[in-house]
Amino acid sequence: MQRKTDSKGLMLETLFPKALCGTNLRGTDRIISQLIEMGRSLGYVVRPGVRNCCSYGLKEITYNGKQKPLRKIFSLAHEIGHAVTHSECESTWGGKAIYGHSDYVPTRWYILESELKAWEFAEYLGRKMGFLGPKMMKYKHACLRTYYRFLT
Ligand SMILES: [Zn+2]
Repeated sequence: MQRKTDSKGLMLETLFPKALCGTNLRGTDRIISQLIEMGRSLGYVVRPGVRNCCSYGLKEITYNGKQKPLRKIFSLAHEIGHAVTHSECESTWGGKAIYGHSDYVPTRWYILESELKAWEFAEYLGRKMGFLGPKMMKYKHACLRTYYRFLT
């Protein structure tokens, strides 16, 4: 069996022990349910809502339930990227310098950095799960443009 590792040595099986177990769903539905399971295995409630958002405080990931299936995949992967990079930050800095904590005022560059990191992880998932491609990159760039405009 091929091990799902990349250059950073990240392993999906380690991060999400249950998420990649077989389901009877196919294609996009299967990927969406695997991503939801990944969020849950990180301790988050994952549910459809009006917008795509990862709340560290509430431990909740919502995704726009009305968007097209492919966009659900891209945005779920991105929000999971926030959840994963947040827990990495927590273990590195002891939870002090985290966006969303009352003792830390995020700079706009911190916000942009956390967006980029979340997308980096989303791309990693896309590579491993087979949904990385021009459509995802286009979606990512559109999202980053929105942030860039908001931040500058
Ligand atoms: Zn984001």
